[in-house]
Amino acid sequence: MSKEVLKYQLFIDGQWTPGESGEMMDVINPANREVVAQVPRATPGDVDKALHSARRAFESGIWANKSIDEKVAVLTNATMAVIANKDRLAYLESLTSGATMRRTGFVDVMSVAGSLAMSAAILKQMPAVEHAICPPWVAPMHSYVIREPIGVCAGITPWNFPMILAAYKFAPALAMGNSIVMKPASITPVTTLELAKILTDAGIPPGVFNVISGPGSSIGNYLAAHPQVDKIGFTGSTEVGRQIAHLAADGIKRVTLELGGKSPLIVLDDADIDMAASMTLLAFLTHSGQVCESGTRLLVPRKMQDQLVDKMIEKIKKLNIGDQMDLATDMGPIASQEQLNTIMNYIQIGKDAGAQIAYGGSRMSGGIYDDGFFHEPTIFIDCDNSMQHVREEIFGPVQCVLPYDDLDEAIAIANDSPYGLGGGVCSTNATRAQQVAKRMRTGSVWINTWHILRPDVPFGGYKESGYGRENCYHALMAYSEVKHICQDLSPDVNSHFVYSLFGFNR
Ligand code: NDP
Repeated sequence: MSKEVLKYQLFIDGQWTPGESGEMMDVINPANREVVAQVPRATPGDVDKALHSARRAFESGIWANKSIDEKVAVLTNATMAVIANKDRLAYLESLTSGATMRRTGFVDVMSVAGSLAMSAAILKQMPAVEHAICPPWVAPMHSYVIREPIGVCAGITPWNFPMILAAYKFAPALAMGNSIVMKPASITPVTTLELAKILTDAGIPPGVFNVISGPGSSIGNYLAAHPQVDKIGFTGSTEVGRQIAHLAADGIKRVTLELGGKSPLIVLDDADIDMAASMTLLAFLTHSGQVCESGTRLLVPRKMQDQLVDKMIEKIKKLNIGDQMDLATDMGPIASQEQLNTIMNYIQIGKDAGAQIAYGGSRMSGGIYDDGFFHEPTIFIDCDNSMQHVREEIFGPVQCVLPYDDLDEAIAIANDSPYGLGGGVCSTNATRAQQVAKRMRTGSVWINTWHILRPDVPFGGYKESGYGRENCYHALMAYSEVKHICQDLSPDVNSHFVYSLFGFNR
């Protein structure tokens, strides 16, 4: 594709719509800092416009009142449309987020399609009505429960997996008949804007799916606090998640929060070293470590620490680190200068705390590395779980190795964290691994693998990693209200048991 700068507008009411201020924000390629796109810097007035469009579409029933079969048909069309646009979406996602093209083409686009397809499949299978199972109370009564959309949802997403994390919100929201306004991260808004157009062309009615781009500190905040928003789906830092929870509490809004993590990986003493090293790299180097559930606290039997770290280093040296658009690249750049600064700052904090660096520790330089935001895979050894860089989320390619002496101690260290998003066990003994998995206080546990998120299983965290779950029927539940309808079938006032119980039939 050419090196033109792509120009976008906001997507409101099924149309490209200029922002009211006319101001634009640059979107860059983090591998070389070239401006690749420009998007409007939306104002609160634009947010009002998007919410008005979402509310009007919702109240009109144009989508909410469609039959299940009609919704499934449109979501199926939307799934096929995403797949048809696979190359463009993968290209733009990689270009703006720094994710390797090898991954976005294979995983990210198909995950968006999977979220839509799975939401449609669950919608089709979900009982439309649940009948009360107890026999009627003295009077003849029919009680049943239905699910309804919540109304207007706001989806606020981060920059690490822009498309996937948007789909985790809009797919269940749409399946349940809601309207949605998405606010993507300022540095990676492009693919969410593209998806809005693709889905609208595939049959989602105008106004049901809107996208506004602009700073979280102004319009994100405004959106989350807005009285027209009934439900917020947020993925991002625990700090902003906490602010959103406060705003949601004021308006008693429904909210799903998927926040930070510092996930432990426990290597058992029966583990195969080669497997443990590969699993560790998968856990902490995927997307240069910028994944909320990255495995970044490595608990290893003390006697195995040196051998495992040597094996990890051997494998790291074979990685191709560079331009994410090259299919041969294994690890791309960090997404922004700001995130690179955060990583370098934490490495200094680790050094100051006395943790030793066994590998890496620096920003990469020379050749193409000087143009972008590249950081070496970094391994701290002999860490202590009380150290700041071990407890807090770094969001970069940094592993903290914590040697342990017995398994109970390892599990206690693993659970000694304010977070509870992901966890992992490496072992050749399936029974032991599963016993350890059950004792970990985290929303997901992977055994001999990592990062396996599927549209048919729930994803979310314990403790400060958030609340609620995304994906599968849990997500559809989280984007709907339940309503009990109770009909008394007594034919006249005199045979009405409840009226007579209180003397209201005289
Ligand atoms: P943020 O939590 O700040 O951003 C996530 C989203 O929220 C973005 O769309 C952002 O907009 C928006 N936002 C920011 N402030 C507000 C606000 N006050 N009200 C409403 N929305 C807001 O994450 P960062 O991008 O700043 O990353 C900081 C750290 O967060 C990372 O270093 C990492 O530790 C963690 N993080 C965790 C992620 C996860 O998946 N759990 C994902 C990304 C980051 P805008 O982009 O315009 O600021």
